[in-house]
Amino acid sequence: MPVNDSYLDPKDRAYAPAKTEVVMVRRQVSIDYKKTYGGISPYINGIMGGTRARLLFTFCENAEGHDFGKVLRFQVPRTDCPECYGRTEWAALPGETRFFIDTLSTAVELAGISFKDRLPVTVAWVRAHLPDTEFTELDTLVAGMVDSDDYKKRKRGDELRPVFRDDPIANFSDVMWVLAGTPRKAFPEGYVASKHYPV
Ligand SMILES: [Zn+2]
Repeated sequence: MPVNDSYLDPKDRAYAPAKTEVVMVRRQVSIDYKKTYGGISPYINGIMGGTRARLLFTFCENAEGHDFGKVLRFQVPRTDCPECYGRTEWAALPGETRFFIDTLSTAVELAGISFKDRLPVTVAWVRAHLPDTEFTELDTLVAGMVDSDDYKKRKRGDELRPVFRDDPIANFSDVMWVLAGTPRKAFPEGYVASKHYPV
C-alpha cells in the first residue's frame, strides 16, 4: 500500500486544536482493490441505468414466518429475509412510488470522500410508499444524498424523486435525490432523470 508523507504547513488549521507544540504530516495513502457488491449487485445494476435506471427492491412473501404476519419489502435490498431467513425475491419499484424524507442530517464542512466536492450535502433516510390502495410503506429506509439549493429548508416529509448519474461509476452515489418537481436545469451536475421515474 503506497504511503506518501509530507510536512504539513504550520498554518494549516489542523494544528489549531493542539494545546502543545506538535508536528504534523500530510499522509496520502493509495488503496487499490477489487470490491464486489455480491447479492445486492442487481440493485447497483439498476441505478447504473442513467435515463433507463430502475430502483430495485426485494421482498419476502413468507408472511407466516414474520413477526407481524405480513409481507416484508426491503430497499436497499436484502438478499436474505432478516425474519424468516428465506431468500428474498426481486422487483422494480413502480414509477408512481412516492418517496419522502424520513430523517435527515446535513454535512456542511466534513464529509466522506464520495461527496466532499458537493458540500453542503444533506443525507436523508428516504421512506418509500408503493402506489397501491394501502399506500404500502417499504419496511426499510434507504439512505440517500439530497441535492438542494438551500439545505436549511429541507425537512421531514419533503417529497423526493431519484435522479441518476449519466455516466455511472458503480457506486451507491449513482442515485441522488432531488425535491419532487425540480426542473432539469437544477439537477445536480452529471445526473439525469430516468424515464421510469419522472421528477
Ligand atoms: Zn421472510
